[in-house]
This record gives sequence, structure tokens and C-alpha cells, in this order.
Amino acid sequence: MSLLDTDQIRQDFPILDRTVTSGEQLVYLDNAASTQRPRAVIEAMDDCYLRYYSNVHRGIHTLSEESTRAYEAARRTTAGFLNASSTQEIIFTAGTTAAINTVARSWGDANVSSTDVILTLISEHHANIVPWHQLAARTGCRVEFIPMDENFEISDTVVAEYLDRFKPKMFAFAAASNTLGSEYPVQRWTSLAHDHGATVLIDAAQAAPHQQIDVQQWAADFLVFSGHKVCGPTGIGVLYGKRELLDAMPAFLGGGGMILNVTTEGFTTHELPEKFEAGTPPIVEAIGLAAALDYLSSIGMDRIHAHERVLGERVDAGLRQIDGVRVIGPSADKKAGINSFLIEGVHAHDVSQFLDGRGVAVRAGHHCTMPLHQAIGVTATTRASCYLYNTPAEVDRLLEAVAGVRAKFA
Ligand code: PLP
Repeated sequence: MSLLDTDQIRQDFPILDRTVTSGEQLVYLDNAASTQRPRAVIEAMDDCYLRYYSNVHRGIHTLSEESTRAYEAARRTTAGFLNASSTQEIIFTAGTTAAINTVARSWGDANVSSTDVILTLISEHHANIVPWHQLAARTGCRVEFIPMDENFEISDTVVAEYLDRFKPKMFAFAAASNTLGSEYPVQRWTSLAHDHGATVLIDAAQAAPHQQIDVQQWAADFLVFSGHKVCGPTGIGVLYGKRELLDAMPAFLGGGGMILNVTTEGFTTHELPEKFEAGTPPIVEAIGLAAALDYLSSIGMDRIHAHERVLGERVDAGLRQIDGVRVIGPSADKKAGINSFLIEGVHAHDVSQFLDGRGVAVRAGHHCTMPLHQAIGVTATTRASCYLYNTPAEVDRLLEAVAGVRAKFA
């Protein structure tokens, strides 16, 4: 049992002290959708706006130079967080969705043709499905999905079978599922995919907040995540790409910042990373993201992961003991802080509303994983997701409230 000092951590997150409409003290368990921000992030962003904000890169004046220095320092922090070998491999985007779309548009259009297959998992977020469907519509390629077994698991054997059968050009999968909570063996699957000649994109939207990432050890070709899920701001995300891949890819968005030269006849593109950062980038958001990554690193990703494991196991075990509750996901040892569930005879939206009345914030719906919900034959689940600031007492308030749902509706 390894728990963080949540009394200390919660002092950094004033929002957690509030009450909700019902008058109850907030229990925030909607972290898989978006996390809260510590003071350090808000202060870093305020500091930029209050003292040195300006547009970056092209201004020859003090404020622009200071903003540029902070923006590029944020890129170095991000490269360090992922253990990327160069800052040129770090592209700031608007989020995970924008990052995957960039790969599907740029790498996809340049490398994929009608005979190719893009392989992914049935449990993927729509952000890692729809861009590939769109690529299929443009090129005629096929998108294939690896199914789960009856325990909501996907074995290495099944992954190898699908790689063998389809010889995909791209294997794009989430390191951790936002609905099932499953943490997948990224390094093993990437290695299997490379043995089969596939390029690998890792959706780390639900991994970056919770576990140590090492793009070199994982041998990731592309890896993406969002700022707002790692205690950072909205409107920023990261596309990591191996330098030789990014170098060979055409620019996706065109405009200012991504060019070296423009004439009436055409243009030449800038070097990495600017080549993929057309227009004014999310400057203050990048500075906030770096503050968030520093904050998480100062606590330690391994300690955060261990904390969530303990809370996640408590949620999982507690839910399984409540009559009429079905956990949608693998056993607790295969997932971290995310638990989705069904309550017999009660719609997920009613569950969520009832819990809100008890102060407990969870998410209800398909969580942008409609194919997963179709595969299990339901339209919606309720999802409770823990983070570093949550406590065992909050988990117990969730469980108490869930137990109360059946008493009211059944
Ligand atoms: N991928 C996964 C696994 C997610 O959980 C999410 C967000 O919930 C996304 C992609 C999309 O992230 P964003 O909305 O920040 O672009």
C-alpha cells in the first residue's frame, strides 16, 4: 500500500475544497475527462500574461525574446518528460485529437494507399478511430479492430495474430483505455508491430497523466497526449515523432511560422519542429503544460501510479460487492485509477445525476468509445476515475453513493 500525502497535495488544488449545487463537499472523480490544475500551473500562466507575454519567434524585442525562451524551455521540459532524444521531435498541438489528425493527414496521406490496413483496438477513443476512417475515405485503405475477450482483455497472442493476418501499415493503440482503465503492454506490442513492419502510434492521453513514459524505451514512432489530462491547461497537446519520420512527412497545416520562404509561386517549409506548428502556437498553454509536467515529476510518476493503483483497487473491489453492479473492465491488477460500471436497471445518466446530488462527480455516457460500448451491447456506462489528489475516504463516498442508487431506483 503506497499512498501520497494528499493533505499536502490538495492544498495545491483550491477547487477541490468547493461544494456543489446540492451543498455537498465535492468529490472529483472525473479525471479521465479532465484533471484539475495546481496553483503552480495557474501561477506560471498568470506570470507570463502579467509580466512578459508576447508572440514568439519573430519579434526582436525583450518581451518576444522572453516569451520565446519560455516557450522553447517548455519544449525541453516536455522532451525530458517523455525522454525524447531531441526537442525537434516535440510538436505542440491543440491536444491528442489534433496530434492524431496531424499524423493521419500528413504521414497517412503520404504513406497509405488502397491496399493498406490501419490496425487499432475496439476499445479506442474516437480520436484514434475517426481520423483513420477519414484516411480510409481518402485513400481506400481499411481500418481493422482487435477485439477484447470476455474479460475485457487483449492478449499478446491476439495482437500478434492480427498483425500477422493484416500486416498493417500502422498500428495505433492507446497505452491505457479511457473506458476500461486497462493498461496495455506498450513496449511488447510496439516490438511485435515493428517485427511485422508496422509504424506505431501510441495514444498516451490516459497514460501520460499516470505513468512514466519513455519513448525511446518504448520505441514509439509517434506518441501523443493532452495537457488538460496532466494537470495542465486546455488547448495544448503534444505530438512526439521520431525525427526521421517527421522529417520525411509533409507539413499539414500551412501558414505563418512553418515556412522558410514564400513567393507567389510557392513556399519552402521550416525545419522541425516549426514545420508542424503553423500559426501562433499555444504559447501560454505550453508554459502551463511545462509547469504541470514539472509538478507531476516533482511528486514522481511511479508514486502517482502506485497511489492510483491503491484507489483503483478500492473502487473496483467496492463496486463488485454492490448488488446489481457490473464492472466494465479487467481485474484491478490490470488497470490503474479508471473504473467504468453498469447498475442493473438504472441508466448511467441517472446514476451520474444521483451521484452529483451526493457531491460525487463522475462521467456517464459512451466516453467517446462507441465501438467498445457496441461490442458489449450497451449504450452508456458510468465512469469514476481517480487522480493523485483523491483519497480513500472519497472512494468510500463514491461507493456509499453507488449503493444508494439501487435503493432509490431498483
Ligand atoms: N485518447 C484518449 C485515450 C482519451 O481519453 C482522450 C480524451 O478523453 C482523447 C484521446 C482525446 O483527447 P483530447 O480531447 O484532449 O484531444
